Amino acid sequence: MGMRSYQQFIGGRFVAGWGTGSIERRAPASGERIATYADGSPTDMDLAVESARIAFEEGPWPRMSGMERAEVLNRLAELIRANRERLLGIEVEEVGKPIRFARGDIDGAIGLTRYAASLAMQMAGLSYTNIGEGKTALVTREPVGVVALVTPWNFPALILSQKVPFALAAGCTVVLKPSEFTSGSAFEIAALASEAGLPAGAFNVVSGYGATVGDHLTTHPGIDFVSFTGSTRTGSRVVANTSRHLVKSSVELGGKSANIVFADADLDAAIDGALMGVFFNNGECCVSGSRLFVQSSIADQFIAKVVARARAMKVGDPFDEDTDIGALIDSNHLEKVAGFVRGGIEDGAELVLGGNIAGGMAGHFHEATIFDRVEPRMAIFREEIFGPVLSITRFDTTDDAVRLANDTAYGLSNYIWSKNIDTVLTVAKRLRSGWVQANTIIDGAPQLPLTGVKGSGFGYEMGQAGFEEFTQLKTLLIQTGSRAPVFPIRGGQ
Ligand code: NDP
Repeated sequence: MGMRSYQQFIGGRFVAGWGTGSIERRAPASGERIATYADGSPTDMDLAVESARIAFEEGPWPRMSGMERAEVLNRLAELIRANRERLLGIEVEEVGKPIRFARGDIDGAIGLTRYAASLAMQMAGLSYTNIGEGKTALVTREPVGVVALVTPWNFPALILSQKVPFALAAGCTVVLKPSEFTSGSAFEIAALASEAGLPAGAFNVVSGYGATVGDHLTTHPGIDFVSFTGSTRTGSRVVANTSRHLVKSSVELGGKSANIVFADADLDAAIDGALMGVFFNNGECCVSGSRLFVQSSIADQFIAKVVARARAMKVGDPFDEDTDIGALIDSNHLEKVAGFVRGGIEDGAELVLGGNIAGGMAGHFHEATIFDRVEPRMAIFREEIFGPVLSITRFDTTDDAVRLANDTAYGLSNYIWSKNIDTVLTVAKRLRSGWVQANTIIDGAPQLPLTGVKGSGFGYEMGQAGFEEFTQLKTLLIQTGSRAPVFPIRGGQ
């Protein structure tokens, strides 16, 4: 694709910024230099926040009608579509994800932007005429203000699109800090937004390290709201940062989702779901079904088929259309995944497939790996591995399945496979997570909100609820006619 070099995007244009160095990105699949991003400084962040503040207080964006904002967002969606192949190439190269799956990221970004445009038209409040004699009350919905967005590396363009167009639709202005590993698509989409007619300063992007610019942004007194997606560890730091200035936040964090297969499921669909659940996006997926629970009566056969299918999967060049598992994000992460696998073996889980770093390639590849007979005491049961490693646990009764599924510090998503609607609904109600899907997996639509419970965070992303995160209610109570006195007139006046 050729080497790319990005400056900061502040006030509607690319600027050199005040940082002294740059961050070099090497393709995780080949080790080749592919991009440099500016290593941002706190001063860059100050300028970006100031630019967003001016755009919010004085610029046209929050003052435009919903229709006008929707037109800009729809043009942005069209421009993303027109640049689909370039954006796809950037995502595949920078993340190392298989191209076959990455297409869904760009198409998802287009869909989210279009949906957000439709919400710009529907931003509305409530009115009451039943408050009392002569009283009219309006509960209006306003943009929350200048919003700080921080995104991870696993779905750069897609997660950006779960936030930016929703914030813009509400009339907010934005400062985005993308991941230091995968900042390319954020700059590309910011430039496309300008081309679509977004006023200068409404969407700023500052690249750099989390510990410098990320921390500076989320402690900045000039922001009104933070929407963060990333690890639970960083998320709790971000919440501590925002609490300093009593800034509200939404944090979408990690997961350790259960994928529960009952004996009465459509087993072919469930096998595909088991593979999709853990190997999609190299397993670097917050909603991955990384803990597979299989009912004992079908377990031997079912697991044998999952293992056979996984053995046939292709690990390698993410640009190859046949590749199922690409490269992991960097060498540290590969080592972390390999460490979990070693830990699983030491803890006594039964390794039934893979287990090694995939050799003979320049990049950071790991074999598709499956453990059977995983127990709740083991780290591979409890911790988010974020790689192509499946942990299988067998269960007997529905109560066992629910207890095992809920035995986690996380609560992002869970999956159920059963043809019995009674089982589906009963189990779904008992699972503690923001998201439950039955007979499908890692599915969704822009209308459907994503949220977590427990260690998976709080706040909403996507859907009407995700849009409303970027808004603030104002209650206006108006008395018409004469108001009955509350304090009686005394002293004969
Ligand atoms: P991190 O939490 O490490 O990083 C996320 C973002 O936060 C990055 O942009 C990072 O910058 C930034 N950051 C780091 N430190 C700070 C700080 N002190 N203040 C502000 N920002 C900071 O997560 P990863 O990028 O490793 O992403 C993987 C994680 O994201 C997984 O746990 C996964 O489950 C979760 N995730 C959750 C999703 C959800 O919707 N719930 C969706 C996708 C992923 P830098 O890159 O420079 O360190």
